[in-house]
Amino acid sequence: MAENQARQFLKQIPGVDAVLQMQVVREALSRYPRSIVLDAIREELDTIRKNILQRAPFSLDPENIALCVAQRAQRLAAFALQPVVNATGIVIHTNLGRSLLAEEAIARLQIICRGYNNLEYDLQKGERGSRYVHAEAILCELTGAEAALVVNNNAGAVFLALNTLAAGREVVVSRGQLVEIGGSFRIPDVMAASGAILREVGTTNRTHLRDYVSAITDQTAMLMKVHTSNFQIVGFTAEVCLEELAALGKERGLPVVEDLGSGCFIDLSPFGLRAEKTVRDTVRAGADLVTFSGDKLLGGPQAGILAGTKELIEKCKKNPITRAFRVDKMTLAVLESTLRLYRDERQAIEKIPTLRMIAVSADELKRRASLLAQALRQADPGNLLCIEVQTGSSQVGGGSLPAQDLPTFLVTLRSGKLSANRIEEFLRRNEPPIIGRIESNHFIMDVRTLAPEQTETITAALRRLIETL
Ligand SMILES: *Cc1c(COP(=O)(O)O)cnc(C)c1O
Repeated sequence: MAENQARQFLKQIPGVDAVLQMQVVREALSRYPRSIVLDAIREELDTIRKNILQRAPFSLDPENIALCVAQRAQRLAAFALQPVVNATGIVIHTNLGRSLLAEEAIARLQIICRGYNNLEYDLQKGERGSRYVHAEAILCELTGAEAALVVNNNAGAVFLALNTLAAGREVVVSRGQLVEIGGSFRIPDVMAASGAILREVGTTNRTHLRDYVSAITDQTAMLMKVHTSNFQIVGFTAEVCLEELAALGKERGLPVVEDLGSGCFIDLSPFGLRAEKTVRDTVRAGADLVTFSGDKLLGGPQAGILAGTKELIEKCKKNPITRAFRVDKMTLAVLESTLRLYRDERQAIEKIPTLRMIAVSADELKRRASLLAQALRQADPGNLLCIEVQTGSSQVGGGSLPAQDLPTFLVTLRSGKLSANRIEEFLRRNEPPIIGRIESNHFIMDVRTLAPEQTETITAALRRLIETL
């Protein structure tokens, strides 16, 4: 394409006003704010200009331009944070918002946020109160701890514990527990940021009580255990149990802190998972302070919870940095109502989605997978796709319970015309997006994390996919 030919094409690009007059764009104006439609027009015209100059394909057809503008406007006007369909089977999916909230918690959130509340007002005394009291009593009731404090997330809870109890002094941790959780949370880095000095003991696979004993000096501020949430070391291994560490701490007058990560409140072994120590077990075993997340196995809002002795929790509350980690009324409303469900374990399993999705029976999953496959086959009368039910395994996720899979049932899609990657992309761009997995050129949906009422959404998306074949 010659230079002056490009110049000719550039001259033919319509002006913004001309595009505004196009029928499809006028319709877009009735649906989206004018500023968004104008941005969409400028973006679209810029793209055409760039493509002409770079000798890339472009279209100057007014109808096509109008359609592209309308699509851009729709994308620009869409919410940034939006619901997605989680077909991955990963229950606590960190990228997809971790735990779903119980209906009771959502209802409570609405009640508390719609009006004023006693967030920092003591209704007994009629004077300024503390936001930290609201979840404390129920946390103590459920964990057996003397006191508790809620902050923004568990990373904040760990930082706060280290900064309050050990800034400028040493914290003894086993080498096997210097974990990294999802990119930016690494125990050695958090420790450094908090001002505490890491004193690693033992080896990657084996740490003994004598390693802790010989590391203690007058510089030691605390003994710490970190739950190896997202990996497992197998083979020739040894760790010091909390009871032993707690006894050592007591003898030497040092606080023992355990970062539990997920922090489970009930025994999940009846549902095919390895028995994990609950928060209550950890408190009973002698930890002076325990930290855990609100939105992992607990199944509540994003939060970090510190539970422990009155003395240590008081110190943390008084640390000025606590203000930087403070939770808002929404978190407290959701957390308190989620925690109340734990007063009855059966009710917790039934009503807290994270627990319900872990506890669901294989028979039920099989039934749901057959129903979903049946609905999808009905949407594909020409049998253009191969739709099957298969057994598979789901993960709990969220760095909880590594190397432990839950048997599940999958609905798999395969097409002779479309690769699994293209199916994945099409469904990911659906509205709402449907997020699944790819395994050996099949697109896979795990029914464990799907709500039965999402069948209609998936079926509609599949119909549109078939139209493209
Ligand atoms: C997940 C996790 C954290 C971080 O918790 P957030 O609530 O995500 O901040 C810290 N420690 C351990 C062991 C974890 O598993």
